[in-house]
Amino acid sequence: MSEVASYAVRDGVAVITMNNPPVNGLGNALRAALQKNFERADNDGSVKAAVLIGSAKAFSGGADIREFGKPREKPDLPDVNDRQDAMQKPLVAAIGGFALGGGLELALACHYRVAAPRAQLGLPEVKLGILPGSGGTQRLPRVVPMAEAVQMMTTGNPISAEKAREFGLVDEIVTGDLLEGAISFAKQKVGKPLPRIRDRSVKLTGDPKAFFAQVREHVAKASRGYPAPLEIVACASAAATMPFDEGRKFEREAFARLVETNESKALRHAFFAERQTSKIPDVPEDAPLRPIGKAAVIGAGTMGGGIAMCFANAGIPVTIIDTTQEALDRGVSKIKANYAATVAKGRLTQGEMDKRMALIHPNVNLGKAADADVVVEAVFERMDVKQDIFRKLDGIVQQGAILATNTSTLDVDQIAAATTRPQDVVGTHFFSPANVMRLLEVVRGKRTDHGVLATTMKLGKTLKKVPVVSGVCDGFIGNRMLEKYGQQSLFLLDEGCTPQQVDAALARFGMAMGPFTMYDMAGNDIGWEIRKRRYAERPDFVYSRIADRICEQGRFGQKTGKGFYKYEPGNRKPIPDPEVEKIISQYRNELKITPRQISDDEIVARCIYALVNEGAQILDEGIALRASDIDIVYLTGYGFPPFRGGPMFYADTVSLAKVLASIESFQKGYQGAAWKPAPLLVKLAKEGRRFNP
Ligand code: NAD
Repeated sequence: MSEVASYAVRDGVAVITMNNPPVNGLGNALRAALQKNFERADNDGSVKAAVLIGSAKAFSGGADIREFGKPREKPDLPDVNDRQDAMQKPLVAAIGGFALGGGLELALACHYRVAAPRAQLGLPEVKLGILPGSGGTQRLPRVVPMAEAVQMMTTGNPISAEKAREFGLVDEIVTGDLLEGAISFAKQKVGKPLPRIRDRSVKLTGDPKAFFAQVREHVAKASRGYPAPLEIVACASAAATMPFDEGRKFEREAFARLVETNESKALRHAFFAERQTSKIPDVPEDAPLRPIGKAAVIGAGTMGGGIAMCFANAGIPVTIIDTTQEALDRGVSKIKANYAATVAKGRLTQGEMDKRMALIHPNVNLGKAADADVVVEAVFERMDVKQDIFRKLDGIVQQGAILATNTSTLDVDQIAAATTRPQDVVGTHFFSPANVMRLLEVVRGKRTDHGVLATTMKLGKTLKKVPVVSGVCDGFIGNRMLEKYGQQSLFLLDEGCTPQQVDAALARFGMAMGPFTMYDMAGNDIGWEIRKRRYAERPDFVYSRIADRICEQGRFGQKTGKGFYKYEPGNRKPIPDPEVEKIISQYRNELKITPRQISDDEIVARCIYALVNEGAQILDEGIALRASDIDIVYLTGYGFPPFRGGPMFYADTVSLAKVLASIESFQKGYQGAAWKPAPLLVKLAKEGRRFNP
């Protein structure tokens, strides 16, 4: 009996149970235990068949990805699979919950698979930039029709037990007790020939050449520069054309190549980084959580409506409050329209929409927030208005409730100071549209209580967000960095670029959209308001005034049909506009700038290193807890390309010394005074270190 896998005999059937919580990850110890137990079942004279089972939740979640890139301890998973193939007695996988990645490969190397109705089977490796490296690409298309197998492996999406049974991936669905069902299934197979997937041919009719040419073309388009999907197609094609063992070798080599790519390292970094964000060093894991059964949202505008939807989606009743019935009606009808659009797309049932709408209670009376466990304020971005609301809430809302503000720029401590309970005040910075965007910056005030912070992080997860802690500062993590990025994008126009050139370079780098397309979408008037405030408050910040000139012409972006681009009515496609080029060139003339040719590499370095440099400063000030939190902010809130792992991880892959050298060269260029290398960047670069350990 081993700790991670147990062995018992029931009615002549060996039962090997994986017991490696939480997901039966196939780390060294479990692999070794499985190898030993398969051996034992084969040699055990009292045994005629064997069943391999996990927990009700997880047959197995697959490889322990922490072991990637480290020296592999034997036996590795292919060794275990070889041992399974060598079994002289029927071996049945009994899949209760999910069988994913290496977990499914383990099941594929059994003679049979039975599953509970709720089981999920999939090969999600592609999501981490790799491929199933233990025969998955070779075995799956020998059971599941090739087109479906390729689809499963290149999207990484799992299939249900029922679908798996249709494909033949599962032999039988067990509706009663899974183990009992698996044992009786195994007993029926005693004495029958042992069906090994490796001995079958792939399920592909027609000409493989034509089939794979078409698949390659389709996958190349969908994979946008990620190498793993095409490598998966190559492996599937190898399965169709090579003997099994050669195909496995081919797969192994492709796996080894992919593990070393920056894309895969970045995706794995993001996977771990996302799981790190809720660890707060000075907040104990067992900080007392406050129960959240009821919520209130103040302000039924763009953000308030989206935030109320988040609560309703999570099944939490929410009162939404605005000053006038008219504002409230407008907000509620937007929410309704939003849900209705999702219903129309077939992604929500009418019944579910009705249930969610019934959880949203509109009211004009602030007093209705009294019994809420959490109140999120999303009114106008003005300190006097927010302080007034918090002062009133302090007098109204039950003690122990969390008072949260959705401010994007204001000082959370000042807002908290308007109450007699600053320990209960926290920032919850949702991103627009709040019901869609995954990022939630949780802003920790000077006096925010540990339990309030821990509860807000947990609430973020309940609302299906990725919560990241930020200290109080202007713009918090994301927008503070974005300001520096925006500053460079405008300087690039001064110096010779067009908006479309800057956007194209950053889109090619992988950003979801370039900065000027983004400004036009968000509304240029918002940035203009902020800059006007900055001109007065922060004379030390240097700005190009081009964006102001654009705004002075009423070019506020998509909403006015013109911004840095022009737009045709009803169409969001940005069209380069000679008018804008005229405004830019006039500005250059005034400043006596002779435009120069600027390379895409310089555009990317100027904008992205501006993010990195400010990120380093934010890290140094303790505004962000760790470099990977900054990466998650950019990956989930700002369209940073996942295959680059976030700005800080990207800087690590470039090397901090090179990033610093580039910044030092920018200091000698146009508006060089705007560049001040962050002391932390300088220090780490000198020591040859990275942001992410
Ligand atoms: P909005 O103008 O769309 O909505 C504000 C709503 O608050 C209006 O319906 C208004 O009637 C209501 N309101 C004003 N005073 C009130 C009061 N005393 N009591 C109750 N309701 C009152 O604004 P928005 O875009 O939803 O922004 C709200 C907050 O969210 C701001 O602090 C903003 O900075 C922040 N924010 C906005 C975005 C964004 O992209 N729009 C993103 C993140 C954060």
